[in-house]
Amino acid sequence: MVKVKQKNLKEIIDAVQGYDRLLIVGCGGCASVCLGGGQREVDRLCMDLNFFFKSENRPARATGYTLERQCNPLFLEELQPIIGNYDCVLSMACGAGCQYLAETYPETPIFPAVNTVAIGIDREIGVYEERCRACGACVLGYTGGVCPVTRCAKGLFNGPCGGTNKGMCEVNPNVPCAWIEIYNRLKKQDRLDNIMKITPAMEWQNQVQRTLVQER
Ligand code: SF4
Ligand code: SF4
Repeated sequence: MVKVKQKNLKEIIDAVQGYDRLLIVGCGGCASVCLGGGQREVDRLCMDLNFFFKSENRPARATGYTLERQCNPLFLEELQPIIGNYDCVLSMACGAGCQYLAETYPETPIFPAVNTVAIGIDREIGVYEERCRACGACVLGYTGGVCPVTRCAKGLFNGPCGGTNKGMCEVNPNVPCAWIEIYNRLKKQDRLDNIMKITPAMEWQNQVQRTLVQER
């Protein structure tokens, strides 16, 4: 699931300087699940901004609205009747949702109120771990389900590098070496021959924008 984290208040305030009627749009999808941009976070940001505007005697006011999702046109339509009442929008969705909102309402300046930080898993409430960068050429089948792109500091498709030390990564000795984890996992599954196979370098053409079609 995509993880987002709210930008600091100063950055948000700086971005919307000069606008008086602000609409904060939350997202009920991933952004809500990771407690970064759902209804509750929209309400809190609204309160923080209005408190700030009031303390500065500024006429600006923020209003909140949370869509079910911002990456789907059906939900974005909901804003049609009200978006004209606002000078700008602060989106609390991931970068994809924020872009789609901006594309749908190109006449309204859209500012992200959150940073999109990862595709990850929930370790516990509020603790998320990055697990995928959507590289477009997944090798998890050969690596025992351990992602070398996100979990190896050098993103190596063939490893380990020469720096691994007692099972830890040379770049950050507090982090386990992904390739040692891959080795251990494959060993457990009696599939160590996989680690000897050379995985070719990434096809960088995968990194240009793609429109993906899901075939049934
Ligand atoms: S290799 Fe890693 S980054 Fe690439 S798709 Fe698989 S999990 Fe995601
Ligand atoms: S020590 Fe392991 S995780 Fe760290 S960069 Fe080298 S191969 Fe990657």
